[in-house]
Amino acid sequence: MQNPYWSSFVKNLVPYTPGEQPKMHNLIKLNTNENAYNISPKVLESIKEHTNNTLKLYPDPTAQELCEALAHLHDVHPNQVFAGNGSDEVLGFAFHALLKHKKPVLFPDITYSFYPVYCNLYNINYKTIPLTDDFRIDLKKYNAENACGIVITNPNAPTGLILNKKIIQHYLETHPEQIILVDEAYIDFGGESVIPLIQYYPNLLIIRTFSKFHAFAGLRVGYAIGNSELIEGIRRVKDSFNSYPLDRLAQIGAIASIKDIQWSINNAQKIIQNRQYLIKNLSELGFKILNSKSNFIFASYPKLSAEFLAKQLRKENILVRHFNTKRIQNWLRITIGNETECQTLYKTINEIISIY
Ligand code: PMP
Repeated sequence: MQNPYWSSFVKNLVPYTPGEQPKMHNLIKLNTNENAYNISPKVLESIKEHTNNTLKLYPDPTAQELCEALAHLHDVHPNQVFAGNGSDEVLGFAFHALLKHKKPVLFPDITYSFYPVYCNLYNINYKTIPLTDDFRIDLKKYNAENACGIVITNPNAPTGLILNKKIIQHYLETHPEQIILVDEAYIDFGGESVIPLIQYYPNLLIIRTFSKFHAFAGLRVGYAIGNSELIEGIRRVKDSFNSYPLDRLAQIGAIASIKDIQWSINNAQKIIQNRQYLIKNLSELGFKILNSKSNFIFASYPKLSAEFLAKQLRKENILVRHFNTKRIQNWLRITIGNETECQTLYKTINEIISIY
C-alpha cells in the first residue's frame, strides 16, 4: 500500500513483524517467548490498589522510584539506570543515542531482528557478522576498530546460546573505544549477567526487560544499566520524544515485582526444568536442539521441514515461531510453556512425526 500523504521516508520503511497474538481459545501459545507462569499476585494487588484518581495525574517522568528499586536489585547507582516502555523502546533510544556514528555498528546475522529495523529508522550504518556454522557468536570476528560498537543478545535469540561473561569482559578490555551493548532479555533463565562489569567499563550498556522473567509482557517495562553518562545520553533522546514513557501502573507494578522477586525466581526455575524435559524428550525423537539458556529452545527435525511442522502444530492449536530466513529456515523457536503445555507439545510432535 502507498498513500500520497506518506513521506518518502515512510514509503521506504521496513517495519519489524512481531509474533502473532491471535485471539483463539485453548491455544498453546509458544511463539513469542512470554513467561509460562502468571504475574506475581502482589503485583496485581498493588496495581489494583493504585487504580484510582491519581491516574488523572501524569506519572513520574524519570520513574525515579523504579530506578532506585532496580539500582538496589543490581547493586548499582540509580543514575546508572534508565527505565522505559518495554526494552524495545529502550533499545531504540540506545541505538539512536549511542550507535549513530560514521563507523557502522556490528551485530550477528542471526539475532533479534529488531536491530536492523532501528538502524533503518534512524539511518544508522550497520554490518552483520555471521554466526559460526554451529550458531555461536565468535567475538574474534568483530573487528571493532572499524566500527562504533557492537550489539549482542546474550543469550542470543533465537538460538538460546550464551556467551560466557569472561569472553565479553575480554572484549571490553581490548575495545575501550567502542560501545558494547548487551541485550540481556533472557539472562534470568540460567545465564550470568555482565551488569557487575559496568563499574569497570564505561562503554558497556546492558538492556533488560520485565517481559520475560517478570511475566510483564502486557505491561511494557524495560530498562538500561550502564555508566551514568551513557544513561544521560539515552535520557536526552527520551526527553526529545516522550516525557512519560512509563505509565503510573506499570511503574507501580514493576516496583512490586522487584519486591516479590522470589516469585519470578521460582517460576524461572520451573521454566528451566520444563526446558530440560523438552530438550531430553525431543532429542530422543531425533531433534537437534541447541543448548538454550533461555525460556525458549531452538530445534530442528532432520526428517521434516520446520515450516511443515509449524503448520501441523498449528492445526492442533499449538503456535511456535518459524522464521523464513536464510540459514534458519529449518529451525523452530519454541517458547517453554508450563508443565502441561510441554507435555502436550511433546505428545503432539510425537504423533505428527509418527504419521509422516
Ligand atoms: N530483546 C530481545 C532479544 C527480545 O527477544 C525481545 C522480545 N521480543 C525484546 C528485546 C523486547 O522485549 P520487550 O519490548 O517486551 O521488553
